[in-house]
Amino acid sequence: MQPIIDMHRHTPWPRDPDTGTPAAIAAEMASDDIVATMLFITGTEDTAIYTGSGKRRFLLSPMFPCPALSATDRWCFTDSRTIFPDLAWLEEQLATKKLHGIGELAFSYAAIDPRSPEMQPYWDLASRYDVPAFVHTGRGPGPGLGPRRHAGCCPDYREEYGNPALLEPILQRHPKLRVSLQHAGFDFVDETVALMRAYPHVYVDMSVLNSVGPEGLHTASLKRFIDEGFADRIMLGSDDLPYAAIKARLEAVDFLTPGQRRGIYYDNAARFLRLDRKTIATDHP
Ligand SMILES: [Zn+2]
Repeated sequence: MQPIIDMHRHTPWPRDPDTGTPAAIAAEMASDDIVATMLFITGTEDTAIYTGSGKRRFLLSPMFPCPALSATDRWCFTDSRTIFPDLAWLEEQLATKKLHGIGELAFSYAAIDPRSPEMQPYWDLASRYDVPAFVHTGRGPGPGLGPRRHAGCCPDYREEYGNPALLEPILQRHPKLRVSLQHAGFDFVDETVALMRAYPHVYVDMSVLNSVGPEGLHTASLKRFIDEGFADRIMLGSDDLPYAAIKARLEAVDFLTPGQRRGIYYDNAARFLRLDRKTIATDHP
């Protein structure tokens, strides 16, 4: 069995008793050999709900900044209807290891510049607790796609806030900060590559592009990352899309070595997350 770490999943909203429970998520993971997943949560109650299930591990992280939402469209993190999580709460969750990162950071949706003063304390907190940041990058999704299908999301949407180049000043200040650039390969590829060249702790996930995105573009961007020498910094992300399509794509790519493929499935995420030897051994029965 090739164990897989999914670096990009979301808790479902509204909660669906058939597919949205921790047990249902774990069952889906188990049938596809997913041993652990980063799970982006939408409320303070989620740290008590998504504690993992059976042998499947959930690593939780709050999705923000979150634009104003209606009660039924809660796809990002909101407490008392704020755009940013309460800092004291977040710090306590990081200190007690109930949360394992910040993000998915949805700057384009909320029209918040990653360099803005409101974001500074969150970058500082991630750096101080040495947890990774997960950043939604790229111009998409287009109107009517992803969270933008929800009524009222997101009138202020700013494509250019998905540009990874905007993270440069943050990484200058926190050069050891681990960052996952999400949805990499759709666009801003030169900016993605430039940031990865400069900062060895910057990794990518190619979620959405790696399953339902154009196959030619996926293959070309994957080849670019490999040719740039970043084979050990590409992680698998599903963004809740079916695993079968992601695996079929990855198995069909002819220029990947078996080691590079294993890297994308598991090893790169294990390094990024700094999993200990015991955990890695347990994941490889
Ligand atoms: Zn996502």
